[in-house]
Amino acid sequence: MSDKSQSPEVQINTLRKTLRHYNHEYYVMDTPSVPDAEYDRLMQQLIELEQAHPQFASAQSPSQKVGGAPLSAFTQVTHEVPMLSLDNAFDEASLLAFEKRLRDRLKTPQSFVFSCEPKLDGLAVSLLYENGELVRAATRGDGQVGENITQNVRTIGNIPLRLESAELPQRVEIRGEVFIPRAGFEKLNARQKALGAKVFANPRNAAAGSLRQLDPKITAKRPLMFYAYSLGLVTPEDFSLPATHSERLALVAQWGIPLCPQIDTATGGKGCLEYYERILKARDTLAYDIDGVVFKVDDISLQHQLGFVARAPRWAIAQKFPAQEEMTRLQAVEFQV
Ligand code: NAD
Repeated sequence: MSDKSQSPEVQINTLRKTLRHYNHEYYVMDTPSVPDAEYDRLMQQLIELEQAHPQFASAQSPSQKVGGAPLSAFTQVTHEVPMLSLDNAFDEASLLAFEKRLRDRLKTPQSFVFSCEPKLDGLAVSLLYENGELVRAATRGDGQVGENITQNVRTIGNIPLRLESAELPQRVEIRGEVFIPRAGFEKLNARQKALGAKVFANPRNAAAGSLRQLDPKITAKRPLMFYAYSLGLVTPEDFSLPATHSERLALVAQWGIPLCPQIDTATGGKGCLEYYERILKARDTLAYDIDGVVFKVDDISLQHQLGFVARAPRWAIAQKFPAQEEMTRLQAVEFQV
């Protein structure tokens, strides 16, 4: 897309404009016009150009931003703890480089334990429980401000409206992915087609479109599911929580929050690569779409030491799977609509 005969500044500006346009289509309208792999390729080009020409750096660049602006049709929710994105690794070398960056930053030769998680292809949602009751649900939006989708989320069958435990934080935010399993997606599209209604490009777009409905009765008819992948805000701050991410996930599962059954732990980059291969092999047999796996430093105190950059934590990385026949799917849908 970027023309290499042009100056780096022009190439950067062209890429930023194109990516902003794709972001709007994807995050705001739920109707992407290009496959994710194409978007990822352009984003990678932009990141490399910005790294090679730091004089053109901008906090407004899509490479520094999360998601898209929330739809004004919903009331807004300001996230007390920002909801960030993830850095990507596209091959073995970039995963091993990630581990090396961790070691360099923490000045240690040791291997790390990682929480290894399928990267569910849906949309990020925050669930706020107060004294065990679900009181608010929100989309990620631009990471700072999301959409209040509480009424819609209350219709999702596997999200508990009340947590089951005698000992809970007064306020706890559970973060995870809302998605549509493959079987539900096929049925939903068949139904949409029979009704002459919009056919969805893929389960991710179906999930985003279904969750951001103004009428919760429509959301209630969509086969949405939720799996948690982290904790956000917890108050009081001194509420006793386990010291690792994986143990915290196990704890929220005890409270009744659903987790993806394929979550595991592994040691070192080599262990992560084995997990990646295992999940890649199992990918087609899973009940839901995934576009990669996520590795997170398991030790929460190390996560705090590593901190964040503009749009992503330093202690996590998403290793994306090779692109599947995505263009075919997008094109097929264009013909059906
Ligand atoms: P991302 O999807 O690459 O990674 C962050 C997201 O991963 C989180 O917000 C969360 O929703 C999700 N996630 C799933 N499982 C998770 C887990 N176990 N732990 C933590 N997070 C998990 O980043 P993004 O910023 O949401 O989106 C960028 C991606 O979206 C691009 O790489 C591209 O694939 C796609 N995109 C496509 C278009 C397009 O036009 N086709 C436009 C914009 C974005």
